[in-house]
Amino acid sequence: MAQTDSPTHVAIFPSPGMGHLIPLVELAKRLVRQHNLSITFVMPSDGSPSKAQRSVLGSLPSTIDSVFLPPVNLSDLPEDVKIETAISLTVARSLPSLRYFFRSLDASDARVVALVVDLFGTNAFDVAREFNISPYIFFPAPAMALSLFFYLPKLDEMVSCEYGEMQEPVKIPGCLPIPGGELLDPTQDRKNDAYKWLLYHTKRYRLADGVMVNSFMDLERGALNALQEAEPGKPPVYPVGPLVNMGSSPSGVEGSECLKWLDDQPHGSVLFVSFGSGGTLSYDQITELALGLEMSEHRFLWVVRSPNDKVANATFFSVDSHKDPLDFLPKGFLDRTKGRGLVVPSWAPQAQVLSHGSAGGFLTHCGWNSTLESVVNGVPLIVWPLYAEQKMNAWMLTKDIKVALRPKASENGLIGREEIAKVVRGLMEGEEGKRVRNRMKDLKDAAARVVGEDGSSTKALSEVAHKWKNHKCTEDCN
Ligand code: UDP
Repeated sequence: MAQTDSPTHVAIFPSPGMGHLIPLVELAKRLVRQHNLSITFVMPSDGSPSKAQRSVLGSLPSTIDSVFLPPVNLSDLPEDVKIETAISLTVARSLPSLRYFFRSLDASDARVVALVVDLFGTNAFDVAREFNISPYIFFPAPAMALSLFFYLPKLDEMVSCEYGEMQEPVKIPGCLPIPGGELLDPTQDRKNDAYKWLLYHTKRYRLADGVMVNSFMDLERGALNALQEAEPGKPPVYPVGPLVNMGSSPSGVEGSECLKWLDDQPHGSVLFVSFGSGGTLSYDQITELALGLEMSEHRFLWVVRSPNDKVANATFFSVDSHKDPLDFLPKGFLDRTKGRGLVVPSWAPQAQVLSHGSAGGFLTHCGWNSTLESVVNGVPLIVWPLYAEQKMNAWMLTKDIKVALRPKASENGLIGREEIAKVVRGLMEGEEGKRVRNRMKDLKDAAARVVGEDGSSTKALSEVAHKWKNHKCTEDCN
């Protein structure tokens, strides 16, 4: 008997990391608001849910449900395991629980018609197929990275050395050629398990029924055109972005102090400095950054984490610093910059900060969510990539899209205080800064257009939602 009046039900299976969850939440909200779907977040993890996760998921409308799967055990992994391996294994080891979840729903009205995974979630496809659920990918990174993902199996066959040793730049379809050493982290050591996982996933991308990418034509025309060229065995690609968090932040009231401080600053005068949910700097680099911000004589709002000399993404699984980060700042820095600078430990309500009229620039690690949040608010960038695909993003933002300035590291690998002060002044008061600011304003307008009623991203998402609704109808009517 047909059940077509109950909403179409879609499950979203995010891989660990706030940077993956945040755009998926925006996707879910849009699917509910514009297409009346019902959504369940099925959350894999290797521990109990973080405060930030609970706060984001807890604030959603009742048509968006969430289920936390039992945590998997990763204690057998070596200490230096790469994040891509840890994420892939968290997903792979959660599959029995995912299967149990689908089985428990099977008899009810709320049959799931589609399963949406992100970057490294392709292992869940097999479980989806077992239940006649259509597998989709939501790609929370640029179209350039997605184009590389589809191209990687071929590149892997063509190139025998490490990509960083290639003489010629890599020609990712539709993109400005890029030096091999700038490609995403897990490609930089082809013997490491992280690369093997990456290659495995990229081969499985073709098994999806569709791929949604968090980007839009005016931002990445070349890569998106290449991705949309028909090719046997390649799923359709839907540019549905920018999907960004525009309002409430997981930090809740904790962040209100910096918003109040921003209220008192002149329009467009503050440089926001933040390295995403996972980024950490070394102790020496924190010192240089602090002194560089001081030397620039510009206003700044800096989200500081405790230093980590070993890994740049030390807080990726849990965003909290373990020690008081303010203890690691240079002596007297807070007093000397009082009034002109504000330092907040670990987390700030970034979406609200970037949409505040006082924000005039963003020194960022180039995480894709951070980049898009800056684009929708027209805030130009200083790029400081740390891990994942951030070097590629920084390359594209400076060389191709031209909305960012990039400080150079000195021979010891650190970005020195003079260089930081120079680039901050360049962005906030220089001619080059004016150019990137104007370019960013154009992109801001384009971003608003594509997610408007008749915009290209709105239409692309409608196409996906209609496919899911038809899938449901076919199932219900059988
Ligand atoms: N974020 C935030 N406050 C912080 C740090 C991060 O609200 O202090 C949010 C930010 O707005 C973005 C996400 O966390 O939505 C970070 O995602 P991104 O892709 O930029 O970087 P990742 O954390 O995945 O490296």
